[in-house]
Amino acid sequence: MKPRHLRDAHAHLPQHGRAAEMVRLDGCASKEACLSQLAAAGDASAEGWILGAGLRAESWPEPTYPTARELDEAVRGRACCAWSFDYHALVASSLALASAGITPHSADPPGGIVCRDERSGQPTGLLLEAAAHLVWDAVPAPSEADRRRHVLRAVGDMKRLGFVEVHDLHAPPWLGPLLAELDDADELGIRVELFPPLARIESAAEQAGSWRRDRVRLGGGKVFVDGTLNSRTAWMLSDFADPLPGRPRGQAMMSPDELDEAIRRVDALGLPLAAHAIGDAAVRAVLDAIERVRPRTPGFRIEHAELIDERDVPRFASLGVICSPQPCHLLPDIEALTRLLPHRLDRVLPLRDLIDAGTKPGELLLFGSDTPIVRPNPEDSVHAAVHRRRVGMDVSASIAPDQAIEPAEAWAAFAPHGAASV
Ligand SMILES: [Zn+2]
Repeated sequence: MKPRHLRDAHAHLPQHGRAAEMVRLDGCASKEACLSQLAAAGDASAEGWILGAGLRAESWPEPTYPTARELDEAVRGRACCAWSFDYHALVASSLALASAGITPHSADPPGGIVCRDERSGQPTGLLLEAAAHLVWDAVPAPSEADRRRHVLRAVGDMKRLGFVEVHDLHAPPWLGPLLAELDDADELGIRVELFPPLARIESAAEQAGSWRRDRVRLGGGKVFVDGTLNSRTAWMLSDFADPLPGRPRGQAMMSPDELDEAIRRVDALGLPLAAHAIGDAAVRAVLDAIERVRPRTPGFRIEHAELIDERDVPRFASLGVICSPQPCHLLPDIEALTRLLPHRLDRVLPLRDLIDAGTKPGELLLFGSDTPIVRPNPEDSVHAAVHRRRVGMDVSASIAPDQAIEPAEAWAAFAPHGAASV
């Protein structure tokens, strides 16, 4: 039933390799555990930044992020920052905040939130969306040798899992040339499609001539239409049960005009757009824009699509839009979904409805992992798509069990083009 060759339609190769070298906080069951893990990493290294990844405050008994002050104490005043598992929130120590120029008087950057103490107005250390990148950009960048090592590690991990094709959904400018170099040296061995951010799509299209290979291709442009579920920045059609202050329905990151313009821009280059849209309002906004603009290039896609309104399900097939979800996200998200969107659980990953409405697995329905946000093992997504709950959970905990699909259908969504049999 499992195809011999697999495609991961949504991954981040450089980040996968880099994250593997950071302090892993995935297994931490509390804030204290997370702080002591970072403290231990600080003790083990003499200098430099202490970088963490995989923090999942949602899963702790008390879901509050570590503060800058708590981090300062743990790492004895050094520069330290740690990503939430979804890479849409980051906690930073005081020195890390200072390195990024974030002071009590700094304004929120466009598309980002510097979380502040209600009384003092001081930044707490928690940074959401674009604000997180202020600190991340202050971290010394990986060297060329680091990048090569990170990418080779990621490629090796994916090959071991049976992947012959991977789509990189936020490709940095150096990734195409590096992959071409690896391919020329016979060190790649998988196909990679690159989706650089929209802001760089023209230059990527221009430069791709020098790095395009049989196995290395420019896939299209990438945009973010909303945030994430766990950060409560997914853009929803209805209110979150427990929203961010002042943002009852999350956060739209693009206006309809901006979306139309983005679609025209990539279509003019003969490329499709891959739009990150997690909430049902974001998904609808992308479908609306595609319907308005009617791009001529095939392959326009919606990434994640974690919630889809009933009314929008048939629009994927009728507009020929690829739905690119990562069912594996459902497994760790069960508690957050139940807490934040109890009234919309029936709209979470409506895979049964999508397939029944003509969204064919392997052609219009493509599965991926979004590694390093979760591990890239395809069995996780197949399990989530078929069972709708984690192993060992009671059946009653299943999220939208009516939307379960057959294992063969789930595997077909991992089959590279032309290899799907369902
Ligand atoms: Zn992603």
